[in-house]
Amino acid sequence: MRYEGPIYRPPSEADSLLVQATVGCPHNLCTFCMVYKDGIKFKVRPVADIKADLDEAAASCGSQVRTLFFPAGNTIAMPTAALAEICRYSRTLFPRLKRITVYGSSHYIRRKGAEQLQALAQAGLSRIHVGVESGDDAILTRIKKGATAADHIAAGTLARAAGIEINAYVMLGIGGLERSESHALETARVINEMRPAVVRLRTLVPKVNTPLLQDIQAGRFQMLGPHQVLEETLALISGITIPTLVASDHYTNYLDLAGRLPEDREYLREKLRQALSRDESTFRPFFIGTQ
Ligand code: SF4
Repeated sequence: MRYEGPIYRPPSEADSLLVQATVGCPHNLCTFCMVYKDGIKFKVRPVADIKADLDEAAASCGSQVRTLFFPAGNTIAMPTAALAEICRYSRTLFPRLKRITVYGSSHYIRRKGAEQLQALAQAGLSRIHVGVESGDDAILTRIKKGATAADHIAAGTLARAAGIEINAYVMLGIGGLERSESHALETARVINEMRPAVVRLRTLVPKVNTPLLQDIQAGRFQMLGPHQVLEETLALISGITIPTLVASDHYTNYLDLAGRLPEDREYLREKLRQALSRDESTFRPFFIGTQ
C-alpha cells in the first residue's frame, strides 16, 4: 500500500480500509487548516495505481473490509469517471463492503451536479464528509472556505437526491466572539436546508502554521472560552429542526454530545446546561494543535 503526504481520516472511519485516491487538497486555503500548508500540491493518483493498492488490500484482508475511505483532503474533486471507476472496482473486490466514503467540500460537490453525483452513487459512493464549518457567509469568507451557505445547501440537496449521505462538520467557535451568535443561527439554518444524516461537531483549536493562529496572536480574532462554546452549541442544537444525528466525536470538544434530533433535544440541552454550571477551569485547557 502506498501513501503520499498527510493522510487524515475522521474518527468515524477508524475501521475503514484507507486507499489513497488523491494527494493534498485542491483548495488548500482555509485559514484554520494546517494539513497541507507545507506546500504539497493536489494531484489525482493514476487509476491503475489506486487499483493496484485495492488489489493488494483485497489479497491480504479482502473478506474483512466493510467500509472503505479514499483519502485525501477533497477526493470528490477528482474526475467523476475515475472516482466512479475505483468505486465500482472496489465493489467487485470486497464482498462485504457496505460503505465507500470521501472528503468533499460543498463547492466541489455542487460543481459535480445532479448527473455526476448520480453516476457516483450508482458506482457505489455512499457517503461524503463535508466540512461545513459555518453557515454564516461572513465567516465562510473570512476563513477562506471557498464555499458559501448557498453552496452548502446545494451540495446537501444534490447529494441527498442522488442517494449519497452527507456528514456535515461544524466548527464551534470559528466565528470568534464577534460572530458567535450569527454562527449558531446561520449554521442551524443551513443544516436545516442541507439535511445531513449526521452533524459532527468540532471545536476550533488553532493550529501551527495557519493564518488563523496569526490572527489570534495579533489580536485580530478573539477565541471563545469553554462556556461561550457551550452556549453556542446550545443555540445550534436549539435551532436544528430536521431529523438528524448529532455527534461530537472529537478530542477538540469540551463536551461529548451524541443524540438523535429532535427526540434527544432536551437531553442534549440539559447536558449542555449542566456543563455550563461547571467551572471553566474543569474543561480542557487552551492549546495550539500540531497535527
Ligand atoms: S478544504 Fe479541507 S483540507 Fe482543504 S484547506 Fe480546507 S479544511 Fe483543509
